[in-house]
Amino acid sequence: MDYDLIIIGGGPAGLTSAIYGLRRELKILIIAKAMGGQAAIAHEVQNWPGIESIGGFELTQNMEQQAKKLGLVTDSNEVLSVVKLEDGFIVKTNKDEYKAGAVILAFGLTPRDLGVPGEKELTGRGVSYCATCDGPFFKGKNVAVVGGGNSAIEAAEYLSKLANQVYLVNNSAKFNIEESVMQQVMAISNMNILCGKAVSEIVGENKVEKIKLKKFESEAAPGFDASETLCKLNNAEALIKNGDHEELVVDGIFIEIGFTPKTDWLAGLVELNDRKEVVTDKAGKTSVEGIFAAGDCTDVGFKQMIIAAGEGSKAALSAYKYLAAKRGLVATPDWGTKK
Ligand SMILES: Cc1cc2nc3c(=O)[nH]c(=O)nc-3n(C[C@H](O)[C@H](O)[C@H](O)COP(=O)(O)OP(=O)(O)OC[C@H]3O[C@@H](n4cnc5c(N)ncnc54)[C@H](O)[C@@H]3O)c2cc1C
Repeated sequence: MDYDLIIIGGGPAGLTSAIYGLRRELKILIIAKAMGGQAAIAHEVQNWPGIESIGGFELTQNMEQQAKKLGLVTDSNEVLSVVKLEDGFIVKTNKDEYKAGAVILAFGLTPRDLGVPGEKELTGRGVSYCATCDGPFFKGKNVAVVGGGNSAIEAAEYLSKLANQVYLVNNSAKFNIEESVMQQVMAISNMNILCGKAVSEIVGENKVEKIKLKKFESEAAPGFDASETLCKLNNAEALIKNGDHEELVVDGIFIEIGFTPKTDWLAGLVELNDRKEVVTDKAGKTSVEGIFAAGDCTDVGFKQMIIAAGEGSKAALSAYKYLAAKRGLVATPDWGTKK
């Protein structure tokens, strides 16, 4: 066996699981495509008890350092499959495979994509899903932000401080955000707001050069109605009519249309609900013995850091109990003492 426990995901759920498991002297590997997860891109966290305000990146780095001091090993590849054996599990990544006695699924949520031509090809070359991470590469440039909810508005506001012009593209005139916040965003001098338009293609040779837009009106959504008169375009010459569509010349496009659990790689391994979330019981057990789950990838009701962390600790203690029982040991509660 390479590890007692393999944790898939390095966000608050995975990192807290690791801290709890390592304090039980389990040999643990975290496999995470991006350590810190969604939490690391949270600009400012104001609801982590005991800390009034902290950047999400700093908070998750602290968690990782704490776990590393306890002996955590990490691998930054993508998990492609988990195979159940008689006596454990094989976890395969795009590079390696490892054997473990138990597995915790803590793979959180993945940004939704638009699914339009050019998006995949130009990801990392002007197409981004994280304004906080990639915004600084677009200083003085022109960027589009796609979406009409909190993440999109927050990203557009942040980028307006760096970029030359920001084009917020929403498929309706309704924004799922408080009116007062939207009014402030609309007043930003380099903010352009394009309503009722959807991106149909992202175009560029080696990097994003322009995006194609089509008229679109989504189903009436709740939220603040900006209406066509408030949707504004400062830099009208950037938008060019071309036959049945319009083209907007930009250097980058930030896709901020929410997050979804990405579970295709699980291939029927554990039970999922109709939202493709991993079904767990109160102890973090999944439908498969020896596989536990925690955080945003599960059917837990609220997607928040403290909840992910709490669920992560439960999953680790359950995994420890499972492994201890297999080895004929008695599992005791975690009060912070090490043997
Ligand atoms: C912009 C933003 C701001 C937020 N602000 C707050 C806030 O202020 N307060 C708050 O409480 N919550 C906030 N949240 C929500 C919070 O970040 C999440 O609830 C929390 O991060 C969930 O933790 P998690 O560990 O379950 O998953 P995530 O943080 O999503 O971590 C998932 C991990 O799994 C990895 N992963 C996924 N698939 C694979 C795979 N196949 N192979 C390997 N690794 C994989 C990812 O790389 C990542 O490391 C915010 C979210 C966002 C996006």
